[in-house]
Amino acid sequence: AAGAERIDFVFKVVLIGDAAVGKSQILARFSRNEFSIDSKATIGVEFQTRTVVIDHKSVKAQIWDTAGQERYRAVTSAYYRGAVGAMLVYDITKRQSFDHIPRWLEELRGHADKNIVIMLIGNKSDLEEHRAVPVEDAREFAQREGLFFLETSALQATNVESAFITVLTEIFNIV
Ligand code: GDP
Repeated sequence: AAGAERIDFVFKVVLIGDAAVGKSQILARFSRNEFSIDSKATIGVEFQTRTVVIDHKSVKAQIWDTAGQERYRAVTSAYYRGAVGAMLVYDITKRQSFDHIPRWLEELRGHADKNIVIMLIGNKSDLEEHRAVPVEDAREFAQREGLFFLETSALQATNVESAFITVLTEIFNIV
């Protein structure tokens, strides 16, 4: 019947990374296929869901956004609790946001389950002319740390779907 949605799995995925790298827009793109130029950060943890089918099973992704709290170092262990996936996001035009990735990774590994699936995301790939992080640097880092890696554009809807599907499929194969 209409509305009778059967869910086989619910996977919690957290978005982390510096402010303004595009986490909210990545989430908006994946969950609602939307993008807004002047997104305002709201304070307080928020999540969105989207259900996808993997191997004939309904997988509901519950994706959490720090919603501005990263500015106040207020991302708490409650945020990471129960997370089976993480999107570690930097902005390819902001070197500092990439330089902070090891700190975010350390924090993630300190709080999250040790089997958490992690995707490193270099967002804003549409701004190639302002690139400050060579793709090779990120790829090497990801390889060394055992992370998946993709560059995305939430603006142009490039690789956002792939990033989530890769992580959700990997989680699906582990559980
Ligand atoms: P957050 O603080 O990490 O959640 O970042 P937001 O999602 O609020 O995005 C910060 C700014 O970057 C906003 O002005 C967005 O419109 C912009 N932005 C986000 N993703 C992209 C992208 O893929 N390309 C471009 N050019 N701008 C983006």
